[in-house]
Amino acid sequence: MVLEQPGEPLVLRDVAPPIARSGELLIKIECCAVCRTDLHVVDGELRDPKLPLIVGHQIVGTTESGNRVGVPWLGWTCGVCPYCKSGRENLCDRARFTGYTIDGGYAEYAVADERFCFPIPSTYSADEAAPLLCAGLIGYRAYRMCGGAQRIGFYGFGSSAHILAQIACDDGREVFAFTRDGDVDAQQFAMSLGASWAGGSNERQTLDAAIIFAADGSLVVSALRNIIKGGVVVCAGIHMSDIPSFPYELLWGERSIRSVANLTRDDGRALFERLSTLRIETRRTKFALRDANEALTALRNGRIVGTAILEVL
Ligand SMILES: [Zn+2]
Ligand SMILES: [Zn+2]
Repeated sequence: MVLEQPGEPLVLRDVAPPIARSGELLIKIECCAVCRTDLHVVDGELRDPKLPLIVGHQIVGTTESGNRVGVPWLGWTCGVCPYCKSGRENLCDRARFTGYTIDGGYAEYAVADERFCFPIPSTYSADEAAPLLCAGLIGYRAYRMCGGAQRIGFYGFGSSAHILAQIACDDGREVFAFTRDGDVDAQQFAMSLGASWAGGSNERQTLDAAIIFAADGSLVVSALRNIIKGGVVVCAGIHMSDIPSFPYELLWGERSIRSVANLTRDDGRALFERLSTLRIETRRTKFALRDANEALTALRNGRIVGTAILEVL
């Protein structure tokens, strides 16, 4: 499923299978989970994608030697810049990204730099594991930015939040799920995964930290109103509408706002290590690969509970 021009639907096309160079794996794709970032790429909100482009960066498939691997968003880093050399390869200026500046997973085959792939635990099926590769991974990085927060607000209860809620509850934290007003399905879904409270995004609660998963900048201000002194609001998405201005007193008291960008391979190792003792149940809605446009439309319209998965049949 090929993106020829941002703003236009993906096109089903026969393309030549990619060729793996030295250090790369040729992967026969089993499935690829759909991420909100895919929407931002397709809709043209992220600039300068490779074109034509195969989007998708939560790939699970099998290598030529029969190993099941996962391919995440971070596809390549330079290894020599100050960011890479200080354990912050997620900020590398020359980083390349799967399904954005490298062809990704809405296809039958992909190639990926072996150093950036993760082995998939044998206890997870391909479609169970796919949402872990971005929703799980970048969500876990955002969660780690909350430090020891006990009461954590999730703004937007989609793919990432539904995974993080399970980890946070297992860690003994309290999860507060803020959804679109009246989104009873998402609120019930959050409560079924162990959330202590679920309600509309403008409701008041007392929080130690908040993670913003939705792309609506006004939620940053809503979250700031709810966090206590010293608390942090973590913005986990790659794109967000403008944040409205707000009185300084909302930030006063050593409250902070920060973004989380991309992932490091260390985030991946940490998450998969965590999953060796905690089994995450992902809620999935499956689509055939050729129906990728329908999956994207459903996500855009808030009609996906959990994660949309494209299956290569
Ligand atoms: Zn670098
Ligand atoms: Zn993603």
